[in-house]
Amino acid sequence: LGTLLSGMAHELNNPLSTIQLSVQLIKRQHMEALPDPVRRRMDAVEEECERASRIIRDLLVFARRKPPERRRADLGEVTRAALALQAPEFDLNNIRGVTEFEPTPPSWADAHQLQQVFLNLFTNATHAMKSAQGRGTLTVRASRQQSEVCVVVDDDGPGILAEHLGRIFDPFFTTKGAGEGTGLGLSLSIGIVEAHGGRMQAENRPQGGARITVRLPIGEGVEAPAEPSAAED
Ligand code: ADP
Repeated sequence: LGTLLSGMAHELNNPLSTIQLSVQLIKRQHMEALPDPVRRRMDAVEEECERASRIIRDLLVFARRKPPERRRADLGEVTRAALALQAPEFDLNNIRGVTEFEPTPPSWADAHQLQQVFLNLFTNATHAMKSAQGRGTLTVRASRQQSEVCVVVDDDGPGILAEHLGRIFDPFFTTKGAGEGTGLGLSLSIGIVEAHGGRMQAENRPQGGARITVRLPIGEGVEAPAEPSAAED
């Protein structure tokens, strides 16, 4: 499926670039000559091309998914790094970030991939809160629960409709407007978490807002070799 997806994505990229380029050229060279309705149509074509490009980009990320390169990783630190990356976005949208991190034992994880997971969660929460009320509070908690490290991301946005709860991890499920979402963020995220032997869950908080929980096993693994050795039959 991965090979098929990336093949398709590349094949679609070429005609799409031609369309995009042609529209840009027409707009640049003949803008004055174009009647208003035609100009508006050209803008719509350009916007939809951008949307299609974004879907193709996400598809390629999806198709190129690599098995995690696991090392000893502190999930608290990974989460903090993702929060720091998202800080400008929080400031811009009046989002207050609250963290409650208990010390947790190291996980056996690919820090880079997990950072991507938390970035997706923070982006979704920010989008939900800013669209609903133009501000909000994002609370991230990390703790140990038996043999797992548990990271809970709470927001006080509108929450997730009951009929959507079972679908938000499906590829291409999105409720965001045209040009805003591709519906691949959470399906990529759950894929990464499950490849780590972990679990991911979404629910609504009783006091309002969404809660996404990520659980990862505390690993004692052996440092992964840089290159996986070829299987010998
Ligand atoms: P995208 O962000 O491109 O829509 P995702 O897979 O990341 O794709 O999310 C799928 C859908 O899940 C979103 O469109 C939204 O409807 C819902 N969702 C995810 N996180 C939240 C949240 N924190 N609050 C409300 N809805 C959410």
